[in-house]
Amino acid sequence: MTRPAACLLTTTMLLIGCMNTTADDERTDRSSSEQRPFIEIEVPPTYHVLGSYDPKWESYIREGIEMARAYWGSYGPTHVWIGGREDERAIDDATREAFIEEYCRWRIAETERTTEECRPYVTERFIDVIESDQPEAYLSWVDEKEQPEAELVFLNVHEWYHEEEVVPDPVLRGIHEYTHVFQMAFGTQPTWMMEGGAVFAESWLVHLQGRRPLEFNLSRIMQRAKSIRDTGLTIADMEDIDTAPEKVAGYHMELAYDTGAWAVAYLIHRSPGRSVARYRDEFHPMITEIGWRKALARYLDIEDEQAFYVAFERFMERPREEQVMILSELKP
Ligand SMILES: [Zn+2]
Repeated sequence: MTRPAACLLTTTMLLIGCMNTTADDERTDRSSSEQRPFIEIEVPPTYHVLGSYDPKWESYIREGIEMARAYWGSYGPTHVWIGGREDERAIDDATREAFIEEYCRWRIAETERTTEECRPYVTERFIDVIESDQPEAYLSWVDEKEQPEAELVFLNVHEWYHEEEVVPDPVLRGIHEYTHVFQMAFGTQPTWMMEGGAVFAESWLVHLQGRRPLEFNLSRIMQRAKSIRDTGLTIADMEDIDTAPEKVAGYHMELAYDTGAWAVAYLIHRSPGRSVARYRDEFHPMITEIGWRKALARYLDIEDEQAFYVAFERFMERPREEQVMILSELKP
């Protein structure tokens, strides 16, 4: 199965710049400027779907997003853009036009952008990707409006769907990306904590619903995390994907997503009460207040983040049964 390319695309998404900028350049923006966070907001996410895409894909994504929103809280403002094609047929003109128009109306509002700038941008970022039949899921952070808004993009998610799976993958994509909306309502977190937290949430939330044991995905994820142990790289190398050297970036998936998910599980297990809800309710506001390094130290009552890294490395060396055991000791 193709590894989901779900990612967090933190970018100022300048319409003009974006046309000619690589993803790497866009990501650099994040390191150089402090992000204005998303806010707690009662209004639910607004869903926008390409007219010709089977509505069942929206239903799965919505199910995941709503599951995550019910758990983490309601943040945003959030707009969800969904599109795809299953039959390799070109998207007809009217459907394409309606999508482009709807997108640009939202995207240029409250900005000095024009429709002329927006049209080629949406064509490249959405229509061309849909017609390439490649799946994509990511959050992008739209900072040009008065209040930054979250844009969750899901394209061709049917490519990730496998009938035999108890929880359809597009549901997990929805959980994952919405978890980033929650995280980004607080202060900056290291890459391993962002991606690890989102991957952990995928397993945690479906586990809470009794649909799949917590270790179902996480034990497979541990296997992948262990597969790169001989590189000597650790999550300490994955604090910021934007500035990570090429060698580290090459193991982005294994370090940020796989090892990161276990680092978050371990963090919660080491915390008072071992409670995931406390991680949500106390740890995240603490990040806003004092920054993630101090928050981590205070929350776990340890000296600094280095002490966490050392302890986590020891945990990664323990036998698999012991590692999986901590999952059963986590509390809601
Ligand atoms: Zn992600």
